[in-house]
Order: sequence, then C-alpha cells, then structure tokens
Amino acid sequence: MITNLQTPIDYLKGVGPNRADLLRTELGIHTYQDLINLFPNRYIDRTQYYKINQLQRNNTDVQVIGKITEFKEVAQQQGKRLVATFQDDTGLMELVWFRGQKWIRESIKLNTNYVIFGKTNWFNGRFSMPHPEMELLEEHEKNLRSAMQPVYPSTEKLSNKGITNRVISKIMQQLFLETNGRFSETLSENILSELKLISKSDALFNVHFPKTQELLARAQYRLKFEEFFYIQLQLILKNLIHKSKIKGFPFEKVGTYFNTFFKDHLPFELTNAQKRVLKEIRADLGSNAQMNRLLQGDVGSGKTIVALMSMLIALDNGFQACLMAPTEILSVQHYNNLVELCNKLNISIKILTGSTKTSERTKIHESLENGELDILIGTHALLENKVKFKNLGLAIIDEQHRFGVEQRSKLWKKNTSPPHVLIMTATPIPRTLAMSVYGDLDISIIDELPPGRKSIKTVHRYDKNRLNVFKFIRDEIAKGRQIYIVYPLIQESETMDYKDLMDGYESISRDFPLPNYQISIVHGKMKPADKDYEMQRFIKGETNIMVATTVIEVGVNVPNASVMIIESAERFGLSQLHQLRGRVGRSAEQSYCILMTSHKLSADSKTRLETMVRTSDGFEIAEVDLRLRGPGDIMGTQQSGVLNLKIADLIKDKDILQNARFHAKKVLNSDPMLSNTENKAILNTYQELAKFKNIWNYIS
Ligand code: ADP
Ligand code: MG
Repeated sequence: MITNLQTPIDYLKGVGPNRADLLRTELGIHTYQDLINLFPNRYIDRTQYYKINQLQRNNTDVQVIGKITEFKEVAQQQGKRLVATFQDDTGLMELVWFRGQKWIRESIKLNTNYVIFGKTNWFNGRFSMPHPEMELLEEHEKNLRSAMQPVYPSTEKLSNKGITNRVISKIMQQLFLETNGRFSETLSENILSELKLISKSDALFNVHFPKTQELLARAQYRLKFEEFFYIQLQLILKNLIHKSKIKGFPFEKVGTYFNTFFKDHLPFELTNAQKRVLKEIRADLGSNAQMNRLLQGDVGSGKTIVALMSMLIALDNGFQACLMAPTEILSVQHYNNLVELCNKLNISIKILTGSTKTSERTKIHESLENGELDILIGTHALLENKVKFKNLGLAIIDEQHRFGVEQRSKLWKKNTSPPHVLIMTATPIPRTLAMSVYGDLDISIIDELPPGRKSIKTVHRYDKNRLNVFKFIRDEIAKGRQIYIVYPLIQESETMDYKDLMDGYESISRDFPLPNYQISIVHGKMKPADKDYEMQRFIKGETNIMVATTVIEVGVNVPNASVMIIESAERFGLSQLHQLRGRVGRSAEQSYCILMTSHKLSADSKTRLETMVRTSDGFEIAEVDLRLRGPGDIMGTQQSGVLNLKIADLIKDKDILQNARFHAKKVLNSDPMLSNTENKAILNTYQELAKFKNIWNYIS
C-alpha cells in the first residue's frame, strides 16, 4: 500500500504543530508530497573528517571530531560572544556563538566527543568556527551519512528556530520510513525504458540520500526530465485543445492579390527563411483552426514583407486585416511602407493613431464597418471600442513585448469569431524560454538576414575618447552617411535623462554647427506631430544627425544611417542595445555601432558590452541576457511561473527540456487523449497535477 502523499505534514512523526507551521510559511510545505519535492540545492561530503592540524585557511564546510574543554564569554562592542575551546589530539580551535548563547551553555556537554560541522575562519592566529552544527559523536554514528549529504533550501527564520539542515534531513528520513520509500511511478514504461530512466522511487531516494555520484546524477536527470515533461505536456495539450475548439476562418485560396504581388511587385527575392515562414503561415491560415503564431526574427530580417503577404491572403479570401504597432512613428513607417509596396494593387489602406483627426477617424470607422477598407494600420487606437470591423480575418501585432496578453485578447474580441493572430517580435527569446512560456503558441523563426548586409562593426569607447568619435562622425557625414546618437530614457529619472539629452544636444550642436550640419532631435516629451516632422526630415536625408531617446528603438528604417552611437551604454539592457544597433546596417555600406560609457562599469555592464562587441547574433545575445537577468525579469511578472521550477534549470538543463518536449509531443501524437493503458501513469499524474494546481501557474 502506497502512502497518500496528500497527507498534511503535521502527521509526520517529528513534525509538531510548530514545525508544521514554520514549514508551511517558510517553505510552502503543506503535505508529504511537498516535502518530498523539496530538493537539495547542493551536496556536501559528510564522510570526511578533518584533524585540526589539517585545516586550511580557505576551508569551507569541514567536519571535525573533538571535545569542548571550556567556555568563556568575551565582551565586544555590542553584548558579548561565547567562545569555546575545542580540541582533538592534534590541536586547538575555537567555536564562537553570537546568538543563542544560553541554550548552548545549557545543552552542550564539556569533555564529550562531538562532531562539529561548519565553515572555518582564521582569526587571531587560530582557527575558529562560528555557529557550528554540533552532534554527539555517539548520535552521529547512528545516522545515515554520505559523501553527498544534501543541503536543503532554508530561510533565516528556520535556522533561528532550530530547523537546521540536519532537522530537515531527519524529517525526510522519517518520511521515507513511513512510506517505505515507495512512490507511484509517474512516467510510462515506454519512456522509462527508451531513455533508460530510473524509477520514481529510486530517483526520489537517491536525490535525498544519494548512494553514489552516478545514481545521484541519474536521479536528478529523471526528476528534471519529469518536471519539464509535464509542463510541456500541458502546454502542448492546451494548444491542441485551443485548435480543436476555436475554429478559425479557413483561408482556402491564395488569390489574385497575393499572386500578383508575388509575380510583379515583390521588390526583392525572398530569403529562404522568409519563404519557409510564409509557408508555415499559409498552412495555418488554410487549416480549420485559428492561427496563433509568434514570428521571431532579428531586427532587419524582413518581417514586414511577411506580414504584408499574409494580409494579402486574408484579402484574397474576402477578409480585412490589421497591423498594430506600439508607437506612432512605427505605425506611420509601416503605413508608408505598405502603401508604397501595394500602390499597384488597388487596395485601400488607412492609418489610425492617437493623433488622427476626428473627421478622418469617422471616415475610417465607417469604411471599416461597411467593408470598403481592406487594411488598417495603427497604434493602441485600434483597440478602442468604436473601431469595428466588417470581417477582420487577420490581426498582426508588431513588437509584441509592448502589448500585454489582455490587449491581444481585446483584438480577438473584435469579431464574432477570433481572427487569426500573428505576433511579430524582434526581441529574440531564447528557444528554451520560448518553449516553456509560449509553448501554447506556434513559433516561426526568420534566422537569416537579407543578402548583401555587411556585419556592423561594434566598438566600446570611453567618454574621454569623445573627440575621436566626433572626428569619425565628421568623416562619415562627409561620405554622405547619417548618424544616430541615442540617450537613455529610464522612467524613474525622466527629468534627469531629459537634461542629459538636452546637454548632449547642445554640445553636439556646438561641434556640428549650422549651416554645414543639420540635426534632428526626437524625444518622448514632444508632440507627435513635431516628432513626426523631425523624423521625416531625417528619413528624407535633410538632417545628418538624429539625436534621440529610445523612442527610435523599434522598427525605424533609414537605410542611409550607418552609425549608431549609444551614450551611457552601460545603462541599457542587452536586448535594448541589440535593438538599437539594428537601426543601422540596413544598406550595403559598412555600418558602425559605438558604445560610449564612463569608466565606472559593473561586472554585468562589462559582460553586456563585451557581448555586444563580440556578436550580433540575436539569439546568442538573448542567451546571455537570460543568464544575466534570469527568466522572470525577461518575461515580466506575468510569466514568472517559469521561476517556480523545483529542480530543473531553464538555462543549464535546456537539453533535458528539449528532450522532454520531444517526448511529450511523441506521446500526444500517438495518444492525444492519453487513453492507452501504457500511458495510464502519465494520465494519472497529469490529472493529479491539475487537481493540485502544481503546474497551472505557468499559464497566463
Ligand atoms: P524587420 O524584421 O526588422 O521588421 P524589415 O521588414 O523592416 O525588418 O526589413 C528590413 C529591410 O530589409 C527593409 O528595408 C526591407 O525592405 C529589406 N528586406 C526585407 N527582406 C528582404 C529580402 N529578402 N531581400 C532584400 N531586402 C529585404
Ligand atoms: Mg519591423
């Protein structure tokens, strides 16, 4: 008989009501199950004992056998510390307590053999160990000991209340006693044998009480695999259910708009990646299910043309399409771009933003509702209730990071039945993260830049080299190139940033005076119309230098601009730096990115700058970013569930993740309902997890 693991932790021998409360509040352990899933952070060797004369000054975590011969109290600045002389047959050392001194004096026996464990300090010419873990040698010998003794997660409160690592280990032992160490298998025979995984019971035993290094490794592998497997299973199932439940409009044909454009108006040959992605999108649009696809492609990889051609398929099938961008500048640019690309196609395209005049607005609303308008481009303004489509078939969202899930679903609700949705992002999300967070979206990747691009030369320069940098700018302008100079804009210190920007603008105006040099400036405090005017001057080549805050970060396309100078580059995040750099390198000319910083750089800033100089591969940069910031920061709080992994690590264990995803897909392909007997264990576990909401917090 297998013990019910949902038994409250209070029932475990050795866990009274006080400890149970602490375990609940400090570690979230409510049940036997929770305790068994408290996995060690690391392991230490408890089979090795040191003699005092063997101690090294850099020792961490050592174990020594010896006796306390005397206690003394030493006054110090605040209160006193308790110092014990501890000796073995090779020498003397000191044990030191700053807290809990009364309890120590009362409970520790003099001249009796103890095993002490802790970190040693070299202090006043001898070794000392603050707050050692202590156990009577006699007791110690009765306990399980291992070369890989687990160290469990803990909190300060727990250790202050005496729930030390040793106590947790003891409780864990008790749990294995009460359950006979027998736990239901959670994976299928097929998977176990194909991957040569050890059983659930063996894995749990060896992760808590490793017998050998090898068994520990196998136990960890199996438990990590299982953790990823059930997350993937759940995400994939969600996707399948979504597809079977939510019917999309089947776009059966590829018609005149698409074909005419493809044959006669395509301004360049599509890259293989663009072709592949278009095929994936076409397959989705033609199926009966609603498309829900994420299109990832580095800056400049050519997502716009893919968006346009997808919209043409919608039009070919008698539907309308819309394209939503996060800023006015971007919307205008998309609009101009698409109008130009489509000028021979007899399509009606309009733009709607916050600054659209009321009369124009009314016209747009009307023509949308009566179906005269084919494509609407714009900002958040598209989400307003007044905006009603006759038949919206495809909604495209550019730069998805700026839009929340809620806004996405607002777009969906604009129809009786949700339109197909394509989300485009230029912020590459590491594959592993995308897999765990967006497992419910299908993903297309453009991993190839249009031909003929030269790679961007990136350098890091300190502020004191500014004169050289200015000379370089002059030379580039003399060659007919244009320059971006970008200043940070961080919400909290907006006024200060604004001042930096204005100071910078003034000094640049001095070094690049009229009439030889024309400078544009764009920042968040300007009226949209003024912003647009300045932007347009730069786009048309009337100005040589664009001084800006990060408003220009996303999407802006000025191929003649070949130098990107980023001021206070240490204040930008990696993905932002990468986005900014993507503004240049858009023509056949050699482009440059210059990262300007002061001399004071944190270790993380250095890594960011080095990474930028080393590589321009967006996915590689995203991986470094993930390592520096962790998944929670990258995805925002919404998806912070990814952080709740109990044993696996998104970064270190990505191969296991890939393997788990592969097998989850395989199982569902052959048995979508998990109804085969061979998958009974999987179905049970899945339902169990669903019942106790252990994995559902991954879902936004
Ligand atoms: P992003 O993916 O950053 O949105 P864009 O769609 O703005 O990239 O494309 C960047 C530039 O590359 C544009 O000037 C576009 O016209 C050009 N471009 C896109 N695809 C190709 C291609 N296959 N061959 C040549 N140029 C291309
Ligand atoms: Mg773009």
